[in-house]
Amino acid sequence: MAENIVWHDHKITRAERSVNKNQKPCLLWFTGLSGSGKSTIANALDVALHKRGYHTFLLDGDNVRHGLCEDLGFSDEDRVENIRRIGEVSKLFADAGLIVLSAFISPFTSDRRLVRKLFPAGEFIEVFMDTPLATCEERDPKGLYHKARAGEIKHFTGIDSPYEAPSHPEVSLDTSSMSVDDCIEALITYLLQRELITRKD
Ligand code: ADP
Repeated sequence: MAENIVWHDHKITRAERSVNKNQKPCLLWFTGLSGSGKSTIANALDVALHKRGYHTFLLDGDNVRHGLCEDLGFSDEDRVENIRRIGEVSKLFADAGLIVLSAFISPFTSDRRLVRKLFPAGEFIEVFMDTPLATCEERDPKGLYHKARAGEIKHFTGIDSPYEAPSHPEVSLDTSSMSVDDCIEALITYLLQRELITRKD
C-alpha cells in the first residue's frame, strides 16, 4: 500500500445509509463455470428484488472487463487481481446500502475467501452454480467451450484451467435440474430465512 494514505471516517455510516434505504446490505456472490447460469440467475434475482422495492446493483464478468478490469487478462495472476478489484467494488456498493449481486467465474477458493473476509459475518452469500460441466459445454451460450476445445482459447476454466468448487457455499443451484424460477425461489427463501429481506406482500 502507498505511504501517507490515511483512512477518512465518513460522517454518514454504512448503517445509516442502509437505514435510509430501509434494507440490509449484503453481497450475493455467484460463482461457477462459464454457462452455469450465473448471469441468468443473478439478473433474474436482480429483477425479482427490484420489483419488491429493494435497491440492488449487479456486477457482471464481461461488463467489468470492459472498464474497471480492461487491463487484465486470464492468467492466474490477472484472475486474482480481477476478483480482488471486484470484491472491493462490491464492498463499496454494499457500504452504500445496496444489495449487491456479483457474477464471476471466480475459480479459486482463496480469492473468494478474500472477498468473504471483506464482509461482516452473514453478509457474504456464496451462491455456487453447481451445474455439471457437460451441461455448460452443451449450452455453450457464447461458443467459448467450442473454441477452448479447439485450442483457440487458452486457460479456459473447466477445460485447461481449474475450477475449485466451494466446499461450504451458502446456496447451491444446479441449473441442469432447476428452472430459473426454482433458483429464484431458493434464493428468495434463503434471504427471507436470514432476514436479509422481509416479506413485502
Ligand atoms: P454464466 O453467466 O454462468 O456464464 P449464463 O447465464 O451466461 O452463464 O448462461 C447460461 C445459459 O444457460 C443461458 O443461455 C441460459 O438461457 C441457459 N439456461 C438454461 N436453463 C437454465 C436455468 N435453469 N438456469 C439458468 N440458465 C439456464
